Amino acid sequence: TPLNSILAVRDQFPAIPPGWHYLDSAATAQKPQAVIDAITRAYGHDYATVHRGVYERSAAMTASFEAARAATAALIGGGEFEVVFTRGATEAINLVAQSWGLANLREGDRILLSGLEHHSNIVPWQLLAERVGAVIDVCPLDPEGRIDLSAAESILTEQHKLVAFAHVSNVLGSILDARCAAKIAHKVGAKLLLDGCQAAPRIPVDVAAIGCDFYVFSAHKVYGPTGIGALWARKEILDSMPPWQGGGAMIDRVTFEKTTYLPAPSRFEAGTPHIVGAVGFHAAIDWTQGIGLDALHAHESALVAQARAALRTVPGITLFGPEDSAGIVSFGLDGVHPHDIGTILDDAGVAIRAGHHCAQPLMDILGVPATARASFAAHSDAADIEALVEGLYKVKRIFG
Ligand code: PMP
Repeated sequence: TPLNSILAVRDQFPAIPPGWHYLDSAATAQKPQAVIDAITRAYGHDYATVHRGVYERSAAMTASFEAARAATAALIGGGEFEVVFTRGATEAINLVAQSWGLANLREGDRILLSGLEHHSNIVPWQLLAERVGAVIDVCPLDPEGRIDLSAAESILTEQHKLVAFAHVSNVLGSILDARCAAKIAHKVGAKLLLDGCQAAPRIPVDVAAIGCDFYVFSAHKVYGPTGIGALWARKEILDSMPPWQGGGAMIDRVTFEKTTYLPAPSRFEAGTPHIVGAVGFHAAIDWTQGIGLDALHAHESALVAQARAALRTVPGITLFGPEDSAGIVSFGLDGVHPHDIGTILDDAGVAIRAGHHCAQPLMDILGVPATARASFAAHSDAADIEALVEGLYKVKRIFG
């Protein structure tokens, strides 16, 4: 099929051997050789600490680290000094909850989440709500599995201080109308946080055009290393936020009487950062932008359309989520637990995810204990879909 000719990058992924069909990029992306090389070079040739060295090597590493910050900001249309490096999206959301949230939410204030959120965009807000006495509301989904923004609009009140939504669902692939979400949040004076974990690797993102207040994502889903991610926040918000973790590298001057802090983003980066992670993140962003997010989105949309059509031929299948999902397709097979689907597919050389995908409230909404999920990436092709569908026919034969 013509799909194979859209992107031809599979040979750049050394951890994907011929005959193995990796359909779990929504959990974590495989790494192109360019990223592996950048990490190897950073440890094996360029390595030194950042921000403190008086010697040449450290100054060069600092420049690389800060260049990674600029690249990360540019990927999502933000300003360089608006990006804080974190351990990942999870830590970024916890940072916002505990710094901005504790400073700005009071008893009786409300937070709006949606029914499709990942646990990492639920639990940090529950911890915050318990501490300050705030209340969490849940925006329902439309019948196709999108966050229902007209419902959100009718739920929102002046008591709402924050709306926190996934830009793209990690289970359904549904894409949020983020500009509209920003408008309705701001209408009541609430801030909008977008969980961009699944959007950043799959669709063009421009936080300035969206008009959101916070944006978070993880490097490891954008073809980069684990252990590093980003919080973007509008400069005036970041500048107003109190420190979260204390330690070295975030201070201006320390005395036992009083300590003063560096401006953002350094104020939020206590301790030696994931230096090589940032270098790998930068290489991953360069690699991703080399393909282009428009091209990636077109590629994955074509794969989703082809996958949904092919999966529909399997008797007893249920497909979840909208037709125009971004690179992710969740499904179930009548009478077969998703874990059994995953195990049999593994025997057929097809790696999918089976489970609740860290979105248990969404499983309750869908009325299933779990789903099977196939997710695509730059290296995915029509052969992956053929192997998936063939594998599902094998599941049907085994389960009669
Ligand atoms: N949100 C979404 C939508 C995700 O898909 C994930 C990762 N599964 C996370 C948050 C958490 O990301 P991390 O584990 O990298 O912090």
